[in-house]
Amino acid sequence: MSTIRILEPTVANQIAAGEGVERPAAVIKELLENSLDAGARRVTVDFSRGGKARMIVEDDGKGMTGDEALLSLERHATSKIRLAADLDRIATFGFRGEALPSIASVARFTMQTRPAAAPSGTEIAVNGGKLVHRRDHGMAPGTRIEVANLFHPVPARLKFLKSDETEAAHIVRLVRLYAIAHPEVGFLLREDGREIFRSPGNAPLLDRVREIWGRQVAEEVTLMPLFERPGMRLSGLLGRPGVSRGTRQDLVTVVNGRPVDSRTMAFALTESYHTLIPKGRYPLAFVFLEMDPAWVDVNVHPAKREVRFRDEAKVRNFLIESVLAVLRARADDGLPTETVPTIAPATPLAVAVPAVSAPVSAGATPPPYVPPAASGSVSPSHAPTVRLGWRLLSRLREERAVFETPTGLAVLDLGAAHQRVLYESILAQFTAQKPVSQPLLVPLSIELEPLPAAVLKERLSLLASAGFDFEEYGRNFWRIQALPAWLEPEQALAFVRDLLAEMARREGDFGRPSLAYDALAKLAVNKARRKGDNLSDGELMELVQALFRTAQPGTCPRGRRTYVEWTDADLTRRFG
Ligand code: ADP
Ligand code: MG
Repeated sequence: MSTIRILEPTVANQIAAGEGVERPAAVIKELLENSLDAGARRVTVDFSRGGKARMIVEDDGKGMTGDEALLSLERHATSKIRLAADLDRIATFGFRGEALPSIASVARFTMQTRPAAAPSGTEIAVNGGKLVHRRDHGMAPGTRIEVANLFHPVPARLKFLKSDETEAAHIVRLVRLYAIAHPEVGFLLREDGREIFRSPGNAPLLDRVREIWGRQVAEEVTLMPLFERPGMRLSGLLGRPGVSRGTRQDLVTVVNGRPVDSRTMAFALTESYHTLIPKGRYPLAFVFLEMDPAWVDVNVHPAKREVRFRDEAKVRNFLIESVLAVLRARADDGLPTETVPTIAPATPLAVAVPAVSAPVSAGATPPPYVPPAASGSVSPSHAPTVRLGWRLLSRLREERAVFETPTGLAVLDLGAAHQRVLYESILAQFTAQKPVSQPLLVPLSIELEPLPAAVLKERLSLLASAGFDFEEYGRNFWRIQALPAWLEPEQALAFVRDLLAEMARREGDFGRPSLAYDALAKLAVNKARRKGDNLSDGELMELVQALFRTAQPGTCPRGRRTYVEWTDADLTRRFG
């Protein structure tokens, strides 16, 4: 016979801990949020062995009296909410009053706390949910909580923990997110007393990214101006085009001061970069969205950071419009992608041979000049330069070329550069509605399956506006009488088949001319033959010039980089 009984509080807490506190980083998250809710201006986090051995969170917030401290360890004790109705207008992080008792039930827990008004503080120690002692403790105002031997009282949970390194990585990422989300608070993160980062309170965002995420990331982003819509504000830092990551790790989204995951925001950011980074990769971004809290639902899952918006489409469009405006403005500045601030985009083509030719090496003892073996290579003494200041030094394995630039050294990928130039020239013809068409002396004929034939019929005017002239001369038989100038006649049949297949697959996109042109131009570029080894030096420099006249010289249309540059500072650093 079974008896229904109320669980012992410790057991109930351990079960609750199983829901909210699944790993050391989750403990730190709860403690950090409490510190922030308590109005802390400085927070220090220290941990050992991925947090498994020990975690300490110390703040200078409002502290608790001894009785409050004891009460805070009771389940559902919270100072932040009284009535169920309050749930609708929660501005603080925690509100369930469960975190502290849960954590204290699965670890050795020591809390020291003192309100500014009290003459001294209190220390409370709990082990596996059982009170060990409560006593007075001399300390500065604030709260310090130490959590040791996490999950020792519940060994079954221990085996779900990952390696020390993995757990440490989760902690570091978490504290970084909170530090970046809270400019007014100074954070210090340490591992076994060794500083990992220290974020200055009240410093400009870029400085904080440099301190918190590191110098390299700070060099890969630029500031975005403030954008506003009724009820919404957006600001932050955006990655330079071409800079991408394999995961969303450096795609940081903060909503109303809270670091969150949002599919909508991640998607909108990734979408905005779609020709600037490779497919399947993610841009770098630190974006801060502020909006009416009533439009946001942050409590989709207590342990997760996923956020939902009442109007997802509105948020998505706001983000895409703002980010595109930044990326476009940057392109108009001629300040593209990488560290190439010296380029004047509208510079007329000017291939020139410098009167004085310096040796390639900037060192004191230049190496003796060895004539290049490859026929395509160029002697440095005849290196052409263009007005943007790039000077050709050498070819590199046929499809690349090396340049001296005003700021350092660059390697250009000829194929990617060619694709960017071609893509934009095709797109420009479309948008100007002035396709350059070549009539064919001998028309090409093509037989189509019913589906592609139907697609073709439906999109005849679109194709005509792109420079094609099709004529139907039998059931599913077509004649091509003119082609866009960029399409080689011998490639035309294969191209048309691919194009129709693509159109059938992405029907919706081809209904809208701008998307259709973009898709067409991309397809055209993908089919384009790679130029490179057969370019003369003059043509090569023309390519560079043309590249820097495009809107996005830093990447090919599919987002691969067109060139990489090492600045003099980078090089100096590498030499140590
Ligand atoms: P919640 O945050 O949901 O209220 P917690 O269990 O996390 O629940 O905390 C319980 C209470 O303990 C809080 O409501 C707050 O009053 C108090 N508290 C916890 N941490 C701190 C802190 N660092 N400084 C001041 N008060 C704190
Ligand atoms: Mg809390």
